[in-house]
Amino acid sequence: MKSYDVVVLGAGPAGLAAAITSNENGSKTLVIERENKPGGILKQCIHDGFGVVRFGQRLSGPEYAYKFIKEAKEKNVEMSFSSFVTKIKKSGEKFELELVNSMGMEKVKTKSIVLATGCRERTAKQVFIHGSRPAGVYTAGTAQYFTNIMGYLPGKECAVLGSGDIGLIMARRLTLEGAKVIGVYEAKPEPSGLKRNLIQCLDDYSIPLYLSHTITKIFGDERVEAVEISEVDKGMKPIKGTEKIVKCDTVILSVGLIPENEVAESLGLKMDPSTKGPLVDQDLMSVNMGGVFSCGNSLHVNDLVDYVSESGEIAGLGASRYTPVRKTHLIPLNKGKNLLYLVPQMINVKSKNKKVILYFRVKSTTKNAEFMAKLGNREILKRRYLYLRPAEMKRIVFDLPSDLSDDSELSFEVWEVNRERDHMHSVSQRMRVKNR
Ligand SMILES: Cc1cc2nc3c(=O)[nH]c(=O)nc-3n(C[C@H](O)[C@H](O)[C@H](O)COP(=O)(O)OP(=O)(O)OC[C@H]3O[C@@H](n4cnc5c(N)ncnc54)[C@H](O)[C@@H]3O)c2cc1C
Repeated sequence: MKSYDVVVLGAGPAGLAAAITSNENGSKTLVIERENKPGGILKQCIHDGFGVVRFGQRLSGPEYAYKFIKEAKEKNVEMSFSSFVTKIKKSGEKFELELVNSMGMEKVKTKSIVLATGCRERTAKQVFIHGSRPAGVYTAGTAQYFTNIMGYLPGKECAVLGSGDIGLIMARRLTLEGAKVIGVYEAKPEPSGLKRNLIQCLDDYSIPLYLSHTITKIFGDERVEAVEISEVDKGMKPIKGTEKIVKCDTVILSVGLIPENEVAESLGLKMDPSTKGPLVDQDLMSVNMGGVFSCGNSLHVNDLVDYVSESGEIAGLGASRYTPVRKTHLIPLNKGKNLLYLVPQMINVKSKNKKVILYFRVKSTTKNAEFMAKLGNREILKRRYLYLRPAEMKRIVFDLPSDLSDDSELSFEVWEVNRERDHMHSVSQRMRVKNR
């Protein structure tokens, strides 16, 4: 049985960055990829906009991936393609993996594992649309694969459900290829995609965006013939009497991504219900299984690939440095009520890594927002933002305070500064009136 220091699952941008870092750090590293090429989802993302943060360039997905594929090849990182992991088990201090690939069945051993398996799209089954199931209903990623990789146009008159980034990008792509996009329908009162994509993909092509609207029915026997559109209330329930029938032959679903974590679950990793990824410390190591690291979209859904690569590097370094005698004492990051999630969710006080790269999202749009971290009652970090939106992931780098101890309490809050100020103002007004 072949033995490695680090095995990386997935050769997307997260896995490639993890493998390059672990290999550079002197660890014997293997990448296992179920597809026949590296690059992950970037292979089909032929639009530009990748690598602005990392390289200061607007690269296409394949161009961004190629930088890492080239580096991995030059550094002789071992990669196994068309390989599928069927089983992972802990055996003493190591992990044993069973793979199926062109060689048949193979077993490998490793000291640590990096999970970089990306995410998958939610389907029509998960959004409960009534009606029949004719041809012409695709997830945005599948429509993208048809258009960009296979060269097929999935439809001529398309309705897009959901305003996630992939849906917005596909609305533009289908328009450029000659299809008519009749509208993007979003159940929430605000769009889910990045602002730049709303402008560049919808506004620039005069594609209408209908907020607080959803598709409630699909019509058609063999092929989609029309959809029923309804307005929705604040609870996202369709409002009776607002239904409209709109003719189209294709429905594109862009209704969210779910981290792909079957392997993590089979290993028994504790998961975060908000991110749907494993709970990790600042080295991106699972909080309940030493030696298993997670990064990229399988850890939490990222908007920018630059941060996916960054998290791959953190996980790759952690996996390479990992020894079973690594000391651990975890303290949680307590999140205030407007924070949807924080990654990492815990800090290992005993880790040598005292620099934390924190990723977070808010639950609702907050104007003039203040993000604050406290150690006990002491403020250790403060950031101001003009806007914080659930659609936009934020990143903060900070050093752990030197007096952090095993029983320290770390808490994180976000609030709207004006509202707080207004509240303080009205309290003092009321006091003044009372005292008069
Ligand atoms: C349509 C679209 C548009 C985007 N636009 C932008 C943009 O303009 N700018 C930007 O910065 N970002 C953009 N992104 C986001 C960016 O592409 C992703 O965040 C990034 O590619 C995620 O990388 P990853 O390595 O985590 O996952 P992926 O790229 O999904 O890679 C995961 C890899 O793991 C493999 N895998 C999964 N399970 C297993 C298993 N069990 N065994 C072996 N291999 C496995 C998969 O085959 C895949 O190759 C876009 C994403 C999409 C989908």
